[in-house]
Parts: sequence; structure tokens; C-alpha cells
Amino acid sequence: MGALPKQKVSRAAQGRRRAHQALVIPKLVTCSNCGGKRVPHSVCNICGYYKDEQVVEIRQKADKNQ
Ligand SMILES: [Zn+2]
Repeated sequence: MGALPKQKVSRAAQGRRRAHQALVIPKLVTCSNCGGKRVPHSVCNICGYYKDEQVVEIRQKADKNQ
């Protein structure tokens, strides 16, 4: 037989445990270059800019035929 709980978890204890499980909406700011949403203090995923400067080349999706 597998492991079994020693005692019943009361609804109050269950609720206290689940009080910390809420999902958090990630903080997003608007990119000053392309206007898209990006994570603060990080390079923009859409245009590759950071602090109004291109720091990462964004590759376009490659064609499968080429
Ligand atoms: Zn951008």
C-alpha cells in the first residue's frame, strides 16, 4: 500500500495552505521602440532593443523550404 495521510486535513488548514497559491499577473511595460509589451529591465522580445539601443538581432522565422 502506498503512503496515506495520517490525519484528515481540515477545510481551514486546506484554505490556509492554498492562500499562497494565487496566480500573479506578470508586470509588463510598454517598449519605447516598438510599443509592444515587455518585462521591465530586460531586452524587448519583439524588437531586441534595450534602452533605445539595438542589443539583440531578432531573427525572422526561417522558411522550411530553404
Ligand atoms: Zn520592442
